[in-house]
Parts: sequence; structure tokens; C-alpha cells
Amino acid sequence: MKHTTFADARRALARGETSCESLVSSFLEVIEADNERLNIFLSVDAGGALRRARDLDARLARGERLPLAGMVVAVKDVLCIKDRRVTCASRMLENFTSLYDATAIERLREAGAVFIGKTNCDEFAMGSSNENSYFGPVRNPLDPDYVPGGSSGGSAAAVAAGMCHAALGTDTGGSIRQPAAFCGVMGLKPTYGRVSRHGLVAYASSFDVIGPLARSAEDLAAVLGVIAGRDPWDATSAPVEVPDYGAALTGSVRGLRVGLPAEYFGEGLDEGIRARIEAQVERLREGGATIHDVSLPHTKYGIAAYYVLTTAEASSNLARYDGVRYGYRADEEAVRRELREETQALEAALRAAEAAGDDARAAEVRARLASRDTVLTRLYAQTRTEGFGDEVKRRIMLGTYALSSGYYDAYYGKAQRVRTLIRRDFDRAFEDVDVILTPATPTPPFRLGSKIDDPLAMYLNDIYTVTANLAGLPGLVVPVGAHPGGFPVGLQLLGRPFDEARLLGLGDAVARAAHE
Ligand code: GLN
Repeated sequence: MKHTTFADARRALARGETSCESLVSSFLEVIEADNERLNIFLSVDAGGALRRARDLDARLARGERLPLAGMVVAVKDVLCIKDRRVTCASRMLENFTSLYDATAIERLREAGAVFIGKTNCDEFAMGSSNENSYFGPVRNPLDPDYVPGGSSGGSAAAVAAGMCHAALGTDTGGSIRQPAAFCGVMGLKPTYGRVSRHGLVAYASSFDVIGPLARSAEDLAAVLGVIAGRDPWDATSAPVEVPDYGAALTGSVRGLRVGLPAEYFGEGLDEGIRARIEAQVERLREGGATIHDVSLPHTKYGIAAYYVLTTAEASSNLARYDGVRYGYRADEEAVRRELREETQALEAALRAAEAAGDDARAAEVRARLASRDTVLTRLYAQTRTEGFGDEVKRRIMLGTYALSSGYYDAYYGKAQRVRTLIRRDFDRAFEDVDVILTPATPTPPFRLGSKIDDPLAMYLNDIYTVTANLAGLPGLVVPVGAHPGGFPVGLQLLGRPFDEARLLGLGDAVARAAHE
């Protein structure tokens, strides 16, 4: 594959050495060769992408200038592209077609990007391994027996496997950063509110953010510059000016104050990862950055607070999938038949109890007859039973419990207070340092199937990533060389709100140093 970064492709396009069409064709060839084995794309729009590329070539020939002309982008299948399916990797939306473009999609399209297909992910973005997809797991392109991470595993794997220049993912608790680390690519979680969520199927609305995955900071900067900014369709999108992110890639780290939080280097951190990260810290010191110890004392409550708050929000967001308005619907005739049979059985039991003069039994059966499901309530239940996978159901139940009266203060209210404390930890640390540097994950990628029966072990994998979402901060993951086991190690940089430019500048320097 020749032009794996868009920056390279753009230069080649400018020199007339390639065309948008040939860029798309060569990515399609890789997809054709490897997608079946790796299960990365849920749908590939070969015809549409080629037509679009030819149109772009014609426009470029006429002298039109488009900042992302010929950038081939894979899109996580929780984002809406008009007239294309958006499944959220769920049976619930298996046949659902988007009615409109997400704002991020619309902006990329206007800038000249080509959408090559929709990528597999964990169902409704809930997971850390991509094993929760209704359409089967994604395999890590570096070793197909291992997970690619999740939930944007398909997007990270698509970039790693050379199937696109860049991919869009979403990050609610690490879903861009953790798979980027597991697949050895770069992934940026922007500040909450930096990118419009219009057209993103909601998981946990006060956490969700859309961001890019790519092979270089330059490409991440190019995508972010286009998708960032206020959008009237999303009231939580921030009215904050969008800087020229590309201009931040100066290569210099001199004078930068980098904080290392002790809480992210403690027990549970794989030694191979620790060694790699520490080596990078040394490089930064040699480059003129100053290294400082910082403390984020409430880190240990991050996972608990995250899984209370996000499941609560998810239980509310996912209430809309009831089989009535759209999405999967259980067999209505079967539901009616089942209810009819149940009623007949209860009526027979009532007659028998009355004939036997068993008043207690008769009263019990009458009560059951009175509280029978209606067709509609049974249809809701059956639809949701069949349409959602186990992890999604687990989270709806956890979230419903956390929000129920009597438990609300003990769980949801308390988790909200922890969220504030975690944000304050960061505010305090950022008084002394410009960025915070941590490992992205406590362990290298794990084998497919090895954690699927242990949700708690799976949740603990998110320990270094969820805090940025609790606090709403930007985070960037950069691959920094190999673990002794062979997989790449991901280094995470966390920044102040809306300081993505600094993260990209530093991330670029780290990535270059790691490749020397
Ligand atoms: N692994 C985390 C979870 O399962 C993060 C998911 C995400 O960021 N979408 O919730």
C-alpha cells in the first residue's frame, strides 16, 4: 500500500502521481483481500466510493480546492450517513437506514472525504474488545487471535490494516484510545463538546464524543479541523473557535511541562508497558520538556463512577428501542398467540378453582388475569429480549437500578459527586503542568474470548481512559514501539479542555521520537 497517510496522498495528488479513484481502488483491494478474515467492515460502499472519487477527480481537474479531497474514511457504524444502514452492531438496528447525515459526516463530505464503509464495533459502543457485536468480533490485524480493543475496534483495525486513511470512532470511556493502543495507530478523543454529536446514536450523552483515528498526528489534525466547532443541531457543542491544528505540529517539546500521575503507574500496570512509557518520558526530557509528579487522588473511583453514570444514561437512551417506531420488532402474531394461550389457561384454572370451591386459588388466578401483559407491553419485552445482546441488557439493568428511587442518591448522586472530584483533580494538576502523560491501557491486547465471561475484568481494562470522559478532557493515544510480547504500546496524553492542538503537537513529537 503506497499512500497510507493522507498527508502523503495529498502530496501525490498535487503532483499528479495518483488520483482519488486509484486511492479508493487500492484500499478496496486490501478490504477485498482481508475483510472476511478480520470482520472489520459491516458494509462496504465500493460503488459509491468509486463514483465519488471520480467526481472528486473531475472537480480537482477543474481547479477546485478541497482540503480533504481524496481522504478515504471508514466510519464507525454508530454514525449516520444518509440512506445507509446504521446498525450500531446490534440486531435491534440491523435493517435501519439513516434519514440524514451526522454533522461530522456532512462536514467531512463538504471537505472532500470519501466514505468507504461502516466499521464493526461493540453493540451500541458498549465494550472494550469488540466481542459484543451482533455481527461477530473484529480480529486484531496484528494477530487475529487477539482482540483489537473496543468499542471502535473496527475503526482502529481498518486504519491498522491499511483499509483507509483515517476512521471515525466514538469515545465514551476510551473507545477511540484503547483500540488505537491495541492496534498500534493514533487516536484522538476530543474535548466533550468540541465535535457535534448530531447524528451519533447515543450511548451516554454526557460522555460521548466523536473523534478520528489515523496513522499520523497530521492526519488527525486534518480531520479534527473539519469536524470540530459549534453546530446548531447539538446544544452541547461548544461555541469555541477552532484553531489551525496542523500549525501546532512544530516538532518542539522544549519548555513543555509534562505531569506523571502516580495513580496511573501503580499496581496492575504491565511491566513491559511501564518500561516503554518510561523510555519515552526520558526522550521528552532529553528534548527539553520538564517532567513533574502530579497527583490525581480520586482516580481509584473512576471505574465505579463511570459504570454507574454511563449505564444510567444508557438505560434512558436505549428506552426508545421498543419495536414500535423503528428497528427490530418481535413477531407480533406469535406474541398475540402466546397471550391468548396464557389467558385461556388462566380462565380454565379459574373455572377449576371455582368448581372446587377453592376461594384462595380462585382469587390468586383472578389477580393474575387482571395483571396480564397487554399485547403492547409483551411486544416491548419480547422485542428488547431478542433485539439486544447480553452486555447491553446488563447495562440497561444496572442503569435502571442505579436510577431507581431509593437507590438514586446512593449510586447516581454519589457517582455525580465523584465525577466533580475527578474533574477537580485534573484542574488542580493543570495548574502546574501543560499535559499529563500516562499509559493508555494496563495490559497489552488479550486473546479473543479470554475475558468475555468476566465483565468486571473487562471493565477494569478501561481504568486509564474513563477519567478523561468523566472530566470531559481531550486525550490522545500514540503508539510508542513494541511490548516484549510483540504488540504495540500506547502512550496517552491528556490535556486541558480544548487544548487538542497542544496534544497533537506533543503527540507528533512523541510518535517521531518513537520511530527513530
Ligand atoms: N469500554 C468502555 C465501555 O464499555 C468504553 C466504551 C466507549 O468508550 N464507547 O463503556
